[in-house]
Amino acid sequence: MSFESLGLCAELLRAVREQGYTEPTPIQRKAIPLILQGEDVLAAAQTGTGKTAVFTLPLLQRLSANPLHHQRRPVRVLILTPTRELAAQVGASVETYGRYLPLKVAVIFGGVKINPQIDQLRRGVDILVATPGRLLDHVGQGTVDLSQVEILVLDEADRMLDMGFIHDIRKLLALLPDNNARQNLLFSATFSSEIKQLANRLLNRPKLIEVARRNTTAEGIAQVVYRVDKNRKRELLSFLIGSNNWQQVLVFTRTKHGANRLAQQLQKDGLSTDAIHGNKSQGARTRALAGFKSGNVRVLVATDIAARGLDIEQLPHVVNYEMPNVPEDYIHRIGRTGRAGNEGEAISLVCVDEIGLLRDIERLLNTEIPKVVLDGYEPDPSIRAEPIQNGRNSRGRSQSREQGQGRRRGSTADDRADARPKDSGSARSGPQRSSAKSTTKHVRRKSNDAQANKQNRSQRSSRQQERAALFGG
Ligand code: AMP
Repeated sequence: MSFESLGLCAELLRAVREQGYTEPTPIQRKAIPLILQGEDVLAAAQTGTGKTAVFTLPLLQRLSANPLHHQRRPVRVLILTPTRELAAQVGASVETYGRYLPLKVAVIFGGVKINPQIDQLRRGVDILVATPGRLLDHVGQGTVDLSQVEILVLDEADRMLDMGFIHDIRKLLALLPDNNARQNLLFSATFSSEIKQLANRLLNRPKLIEVARRNTTAEGIAQVVYRVDKNRKRELLSFLIGSNNWQQVLVFTRTKHGANRLAQQLQKDGLSTDAIHGNKSQGARTRALAGFKSGNVRVLVATDIAARGLDIEQLPHVVNYEMPNVPEDYIHRIGRTGRAGNEGEAISLVCVDEIGLLRDIERLLNTEIPKVVLDGYEPDPSIRAEPIQNGRNSRGRSQSREQGQGRRRGSTADDRADARPKDSGSARSGPQRSSAKSTTKHVRRKSNDAQANKQNRSQRSSRQQERAALFGG
């Protein structure tokens, strides 16, 4: 099937041709004609499937087919994204695909000066790409009017909810015309019950587009797990990069501090490395990304939040240096490779502490990831699993829940048993001895709970801080 057969106008076909796209991707084939007809769409699309063009091409066509002749151009399309990087990328795609159409796009996000954005909005914008926090700042200052929005796009909606943007989104929705009076498009890599709730509220009889099975990873990504001890991960990573001559590797850590430390260590190993996370200024992050894209930086170490939305063409290798606390993050992470039909490799370095996290991921994917032990890097069987600091410990599912991300999966039988006050039952029916023992257990559990809660608070506040840094508060 060709792009011509999708019903796109000559200006868009020309721009697409110049990008070197020869045929539409599966989601483009399914969704573009529906969006052109004005349908609401709920698309459960994997990352890297070409979803940006799915909404960008038809919205450009719909706007240009129906020009307004106002003196001041009102915002007619609002595209919300969870991160600055994704906003910038979507904005760049709108510019690229719309280069032969007389439409104006603006990208607004936090962490940069607000005045140039105000000037741009004042001059008139047809298509606004924004992160929710900064957009609300503009609303507060009265520098943006959203009352004329005809098309609303929520991109990577699952991540927006994971990052706690639901309240901001609600506030913004209240400023738009009634949802019957606009077209609504919702894109999400994973498809949780929270997303369905949001979709129910937002979309009018949406067409459901699902190009890949729910919670699967992109085809073309080879996944492998290296079992290794925690204190030898850095050495193994340098060895893998060097011996395989990998030239462009995106590496994930769980924390900002961990990202910095690893970047310094790899640099000492002679690998040009940079780090990208919420403690870095917008300028430093842009530079790091540009260096990585151009090939000057061979290894980019990133946290989950900072890496969200990065689109680096043909990124061949993604490494999970530390496994993510939330299984869905694994899908997002490895979706950075194997984009748009290219081959990619996702390598996970898993120590004994992370076996539970790996199992959760395999359960989510409903598949077992091949495991490899490299000669010379065999894990020491005498090392016992320890709680993960600033991450999931043995009671980790409650931590995931605290982040608002684990809720969507039903708790396991073990979880439920653990959550029940076991001692109350035995105290009623069992002998005294059993009751005393279970009371001790209960006390111990309470102290574990207190410790887990403390860790949860610190993790939550660190994620919130990173989010604030990434989105300008
Ligand atoms: P996205 O899923 O929108 O982040 O897109 C992932 C990558 O696929 C981007 O680098 C796009 O430029 C590219 N892409 C989008 N559509 C096509 C297509 N039809 N053929 C080849 N590459 C594409």
